[in-house]
Amino acid sequence: MKIAVICTGDELLKGAVVNTNLHFIGSQLLSHGMMPRLSLEVRDSMEEIRSALELAFSKADTVIVSGGLGPTADDMTREAAADYFCVPLVQDDKTHLSLLKHLRKRRDAGKEIPSRFLNQCMIPDGADVLPNRCGTASGVLLEKSGKILFLLPGPPRELEPMFAEQVIPELLKRNHHRLYSALFYLAGIPESVAEERMLSLSDPDLSVAYCASPESVKLFLLSSDMELLQRKCSAVRKEFSGELLSEAHSTLAEEIVSLLCRFGKTLATAESCTGGLIAERITDVAGASSVFLGSVVSYSNELKQKILGVPPDILEQKGAVSRETCDAMLTGISSETGADISLAVTGIAGPGGGTPEKPVGLVYTGIRINGRNYVTENHFSGNRQQVRERTYAAVMNDLRKHLSENPESFNH
Ligand code: ATP
Ligand code: MG
Repeated sequence: MKIAVICTGDELLKGAVVNTNLHFIGSQLLSHGMMPRLSLEVRDSMEEIRSALELAFSKADTVIVSGGLGPTADDMTREAAADYFCVPLVQDDKTHLSLLKHLRKRRDAGKEIPSRFLNQCMIPDGADVLPNRCGTASGVLLEKSGKILFLLPGPPRELEPMFAEQVIPELLKRNHHRLYSALFYLAGIPESVAEERMLSLSDPDLSVAYCASPESVKLFLLSSDMELLQRKCSAVRKEFSGELLSEAHSTLAEEIVSLLCRFGKTLATAESCTGGLIAERITDVAGASSVFLGSVVSYSNELKQKILGVPPDILEQKGAVSRETCDAMLTGISSETGADISLAVTGIAGPGGGTPEKPVGLVYTGIRINGRNYVTENHFSGNRQQVRERTYAAVMNDLRKHLSENPESFNH
């Protein structure tokens, strides 16, 4: 089965609305072993939708369209589909009746219902109606000349249940070649290194894709051969044993919270250039309260001194962005909070504040574990936000490695 998706709406092309329908349809299809060949985003125009149908059906036998089923003048998907299949639009009596009932409830008695509202019960001749339990615009399933067309309403709260409850079962009935997929999160290596190390696992029947974010690389494996995929998954687990997040987790924060829970250890953070980012991400994880004590955002020298006890001569002689300050922040947050493990970061996120000796992107990250401080000097590239994100990823990944590589050191 070859599937294409068309999402209609001027608002998508203007960037006014994010196309979450494609995201939803794509992820639902993949979890049922299918993947679209292509996706198109088109304006609310009869001509554009018509030519998108031509293109989509030249590449696929099944096309899913979202949007343009409502009562307004810009809703033209039904007309475009009828025109493409050279069939008239006919009234579906059941939809007509339930629409009248619904509209009469909402409008003053005796007030005429504008005819455009009733457009919603017109469907291409020969099509089946897909009921919409969250709105008034029904969906459409039209099967003709070996082509299958689904029309679904645009609002995600209507499309999503219809897709999951009605479209997926119809597709599963017709799809005889399912795909198998796996997703891994790799922390601490760039995409290019992940790709290089995957070369030895390449296979003509395995598709491999990467998607990088500041804190991890998503590695997607896809194959129609289930056994091959399982073998490759085992090989990935072996090859990336030091970088893989556990398969239940998709973020470093989830991984860290779970490791801390496993070892029964508490964590506190002292943040300067990240301004609370580390604490925010950790507290995003449900259950963080059992291991995370809190954070001091010591942005100014005064607070570094007052709350964390960083000695004034270190701040004066070495500066706030220095190995020594980071080290003192670690010791300070640890003695203030009594946490088993502490993190500290201090750096220059930019765009201003850099000097030849201490350029933008210089960041010291530190971990205090079992009473010892480990401070790393980093040189990150990128703008202010990127430097902060990279700082977060580096210190959290260092902690992940400490926790997962030296579990025996936590058992006493
Ligand atoms: P309505 O009866 O609400 O007009 P419709 O089927 O005609 O439904 P559209 O008019 O195309 O759908 O879209 C209605 C609203 O749904 C849009 O304004 C937008 O907020 C949302 N929407 C449409 N398409 C998408 C999409 N691909 N992703 C996310 N939201 C969307
Ligand atoms: Mg509409």
